[in-house]
Amino acid sequence: MIELVCITLENEMDLTLAYKKSIQIADLIKLTVATQTVFATAVSEVSREVMDKALEGSCSIGISSYRDRYYLCASLVFRIDDDFPRNNEGFDYARKLVPLIEISFSGTEGFVSLEMAIPRSCKMDGHRLDFIRQQIELMGPVNAYEELKVRNAALNSKSQRQELELIHANYLNEQKSEFLSVASHELNTPITILRALSQISLRLVDPAEAKLYSHLQKVEKQTGKLVTLTQQLLDISKIEHGQFTYKKESVELDDFMASIIESVYLLAPSHKFQYELNACCTMELDRNRIEQALTNIVGNAAKYSEKGTTIYIRTGIEDDRIKIVIEDQGIGMSEETRKNIFEKFYRSDAVHAQYKGLGIGLFVASKIISDHAGSIDVKSEEGKGSSFFISFPKSAPQTPGVS
Ligand code: ADP
Repeated sequence: MIELVCITLENEMDLTLAYKKSIQIADLIKLTVATQTVFATAVSEVSREVMDKALEGSCSIGISSYRDRYYLCASLVFRIDDDFPRNNEGFDYARKLVPLIEISFSGTEGFVSLEMAIPRSCKMDGHRLDFIRQQIELMGPVNAYEELKVRNAALNSKSQRQELELIHANYLNEQKSEFLSVASHELNTPITILRALSQISLRLVDPAEAKLYSHLQKVEKQTGKLVTLTQQLLDISKIEHGQFTYKKESVELDDFMASIIESVYLLAPSHKFQYELNACCTMELDRNRIEQALTNIVGNAAKYSEKGTTIYIRTGIEDDRIKIVIEDQGIGMSEETRKNIFEKFYRSDAVHAQYKGLGIGLFVASKIISDHAGSIDVKSEEGKGSSFFISFPKSAPQTPGVS
C-alpha cells in the first residue's frame, strides 16, 4: 500500500480525522459520494474499536495496486491484551460496508486491512497517484486538531532527535575524558624521567663539546614543554574527576607577585614589565596553584603581544577586595573570543595558525581563581591589547578541596 496518511488513534477526534481523511482521499480519486461515505464509515468504525479496546493503534489510509487494478485501502495495526474481543461487533459492521476486509492477530499484535476496488472509470494510474499524493500534502491538515497533531509529532521527533544527540555528545565527552585521563597519567612518568635525565646529562657534559651540549640543551627545552603540556592535561583530568585539590597557606601578596613577575620575565625576556604592587596584605592561598594561574595569564600577555611591548601588572585594595590587573599591548581579542576564553579547549581562530597552545590555561586559571572565592574578567580591543582583572575577597573563605 502507498500510504497517504497515518493517524495514531488516541481519542474521539482521531476518529473524525480518520473519517475526514478517508473522504478527502476518496474524493480525490473521484469515487461517488455514496462510496466515499461507505468507505469512511467503515474506516472510522474499525478505528473506534481499536481506539476503545486495543492498548494502542494507528490507522494508515492509502492506495494499493494489484495487476492493473487500484484499491483504496486502510490498514490498522494495534497492540492488544487478552481482553481484546476476537469476535468484534465493530469489525463485523465494517465487513458489511466493505466486504474486502482481513482481520488477523499474532501474539500481542492485531491487524485489520480494508480494501475497496477503485472503478476503472476513475482512470487511476501512477501519475494520478502522484497527483493525489501531492494534493494531500498541499491541502494540509483537515482541521485545527490535525494541525496540532502534526505539529506535536514534529516537536516530538525533534525533541527525540535532540535527546539522542545529547546522549551521543555525553558519550563522546565521557570517552574523551577517559582518554585524557589515561593518556595524561601514562605520559606523565616517562616524560618526567626524560626531563630529569636530560637535566642530569646537561650537567655531566662538558660545554666544550659544543654540538652535543647544544643538542642536549634542545632536548631539555623540548622535554620541558612536554612536561608543561602533560601537566595541563593532567589538570583537566583532575578537574573532571574532582581531584583538583589545594594546600593553602598565608602568603604576602606583593612579594609573591614580584617572584611570579621575575620567573615570567625569565621566560619572556624580550618584553618590558612595569609593575605597581600596592596590595600590602597577606592572603590565604595555594601558592603553586595561584602561581600557575597568574603565570598563565602573564605568560599569555607575553605570548599574544609583540616583543618589546610592555606588560603592566598592578595589585591593590579596592572596596575591601584584593585586585590584580594584568595588561598587555598585544593582539587583543574579538567580542566572540572574549566570551569564550574561559571555556575548556577554546582557542580563537585568530591565534590557531600563529601561536601554539591547547586552550587549557585560562580554563584552569579561572577554576583556580573561583576556587579561591575570586573572580576574573577581561576587557580587550582587537589590535590594541587586553586587560585581565582578578579580584579576591580580602579574607578568603575556605577553598573547596583544601587538604
Ligand atoms: P592557549 O593560550 O594555550 O591557547 P589559554 O586558555 O591560555 O590557551 O587561552 C585561550 C585563548 O584565549 C587563546 O587561544 C587566545 O585566543 C585567547 N587569549 C588568552 N590570553 C590572551 C591575550 N592576552 N591576548 C589575546 N588573546 C588571548
